[in-house]
Amino acid sequence: MKKWQNYWEENQIYKFNKNHKGETYSVDTPPPTISGKMHIGHASSYTHEDIIVRYERMKNKKIIFPFGTDDNGLPTEKFIEKEKNVSSKRMQRNEFIELCNKTLEEIRPQFIQNWKDIGLSCDFDLSYSTIDKRCQRISQEHFINLFNKNLVYKKETPILYCPTCETAVAQAELENKNIPSVFYYIDFGKLTIATTRPELLSSCVAIFVNNKDPRYKNLIGEKITVPIFKNQITVLADEKVDLEKGTGAVMCSTFGDTTDIEWYMTHNLDLKTSISKKGEMTEIAKEFQGMKIKEAREKIVEKLRAQKKIIKEEKIDHLVNVHERCGTEIEILSTKQWFIKILKNKNKFIERGREINWKPKHLIHRYENWINNLKWDWCISRQRFFGIPFPVWFCKECGEIILADKKDLPVDPLIQRPKKKCRCGSNTFIPEKDVMDTWATSSLTPQILEDLIGQKLIKINLRAQAHDIISTWLFYTIVRAEYIEKKAPWKEILISGFVLDKKGEKMSKSKNNIVEPKTVIEKYGADALRYWASNVSFGKDIRYDENELKNGKRLITKIINATNFAAKNLNKAKPDRLYILDQYFLIKLNKTIKEVNMLFEKRKIPQAKETIEKFFWNSFCDNYLELVKWRIYGDKEKESAKYTLYHSLLSILKMFAPIMPFITEDLYQKYFKEYKSIHITSFPDFDPNLIDEDLEKKGDLMIKYLEEIRKIKTEKGVSQKAEIKEYKISKDISGFEKDLKETGNIKNIIL
Ligand SMILES: [Zn+2]
Ligand SMILES: [Zn+2]
Repeated sequence: MKKWQNYWEENQIYKFNKNHKGETYSVDTPPPTISGKMHIGHASSYTHEDIIVRYERMKNKKIIFPFGTDDNGLPTEKFIEKEKNVSSKRMQRNEFIELCNKTLEEIRPQFIQNWKDIGLSCDFDLSYSTIDKRCQRISQEHFINLFNKNLVYKKETPILYCPTCETAVAQAELENKNIPSVFYYIDFGKLTIATTRPELLSSCVAIFVNNKDPRYKNLIGEKITVPIFKNQITVLADEKVDLEKGTGAVMCSTFGDTTDIEWYMTHNLDLKTSISKKGEMTEIAKEFQGMKIKEAREKIVEKLRAQKKIIKEEKIDHLVNVHERCGTEIEILSTKQWFIKILKNKNKFIERGREINWKPKHLIHRYENWINNLKWDWCISRQRFFGIPFPVWFCKECGEIILADKKDLPVDPLIQRPKKKCRCGSNTFIPEKDVMDTWATSSLTPQILEDLIGQKLIKINLRAQAHDIISTWLFYTIVRAEYIEKKAPWKEILISGFVLDKKGEKMSKSKNNIVEPKTVIEKYGADALRYWASNVSFGKDIRYDENELKNGKRLITKIINATNFAAKNLNKAKPDRLYILDQYFLIKLNKTIKEVNMLFEKRKIPQAKETIEKFFWNSFCDNYLELVKWRIYGDKEKESAKYTLYHSLLSILKMFAPIMPFITEDLYQKYFKEYKSIHITSFPDFDPNLIDEDLEKKGDLMIKYLEEIRKIKTEKGVSQKAEIKEYKISKDISGFEKDLKETGNIKNIIL
């Protein structure tokens, strides 16, 4: 099937055509992370998208279906570090960036090939990489626009931070993980504090109790001494304290969790940082300085035990936030970061979400919940290397923020300098060293697409993606579209689920149940893979089911056999008069075409597939091909049969084409070739004039009788070819008697 892949490429079948007269149908294709590998989940979700695009293409739309790769940011850095056995922190920044770029160029062709192998009908020339110059320019330009609209700011503030990756992270990059932990009940003298994080004692700045709590009423305002570190802190009251949890008295460190941040802000507390950006204890941790967090925890607990300050230890399962990229427990550190303002516009983002047609509908709730629970503005700066630089310098004298000129973009402030002096007259600048997070660029895929085709799009028709990136890619793209053009970016969103193994379990290396798309394609072919994938129900996880691949394979064989059987008797020319059975069969085909169109329009892919398949197996193979034999072999009404075979088989192939592009192309080229490819022919259209209820009823009856005859023969254990002397029918099937007689081998039909 490589043959057709090459053919499509050579003949530019899927190439974006600016001059196409049809209605535009544009797709915001997800750019896969090049440092990852294509997995079966990709194969499935990209197939769903491709089926829809192929259908729309055959509806004569002007297709804009790009293919980008997401290849900057932390995932790529980690990949390169592993692949090349280097450490980004120990290399020169520019050397590391060069190594990243070089490696990406090496692996890109094979990576993209995987996507071609599943039959994806993107225009692979309409391509971008989220780190290429175009994307850098677009990303920086929109940063400047946000800055000018006062929607982006840099501020020192407590922020989610990964000590392993040594960078700020966004709320959306967190994962919840249940880890076994210990609740230590620590003696603070006048009261007892229960905490899972005794290593934060040195940054403890207050104790909080609930003012409704009678146990502590008289302690509010009292001074307390922190064990080991001996600093004096005050007992404060706040209604956020849960009376039921621990001892009802909570230590507030800067920062253990988000409540600490709130208290730090509302109660104007001191800032004491006990954990460094490297995840080590700082000097305020005194003798524990330089230790990693876990080690410090152990040592501090040891010391507390020795001082008999630990009253109780309670083993618990503890839900913590970890960084999705590395699994490290997230810390909160006060650092200077760039933020895009989002908290103040939550309602607008929710409104925009509601303007989009969601499939499935209910997932909009996940989107809205996410927005409602946002606690931070969107942190877009990362203390990393392989990302898009901020087009920003700071004046060394007065601290003024200097932006690059838009016409000079993209810039790297570490290499280039501002072209003018600062307003204060100074000519010395400090470049912004941080880079932007990769979502800050991939959230601009609609703008990148417009730039690629050199044309504005009112709204992109389709965004298809998996449900795990609703809070990131989907949300951020809506934020960008709102700030750029005050609109929703797309008309329709399709959300795919994950692929589970056949038992319904998540695939993972440890369970040894991973299915590679490559292996599936080698064994069953890409069409069978797509056949399986088309069982999707949007928003739901699907199981990998080898039986479905076998069914797909069986169907393909049947299509080949049926086409080969009919091959000698195909004729495009319509005779003046159609034989009654052919009229009947074309009415049935017409009905199926109507149904399939409706189902594809509603994105009900499995139902569309089922409808075509049922028509093909039952109506076409089991019935029509059998009913037509006596005429073909006997030279009776043959031209009518030939036309009907041609027309129906071609329609069937066309209806299957979005789902199984390879085999349908193969047979089209062999027997039906008129255009360069089946994929640029028109999808079969319903003909409203082709209705004859009377004739249809009679035909249906005849089919019913035929099926009954077959059943009788099977039950009697005789050959289907065996002759039947007499067969009684109760209703009139005038016009169809001959077909029933010939096909059922019946001597006499009696009404
Ligand atoms: Zn990390
Ligand atoms: Zn200045």
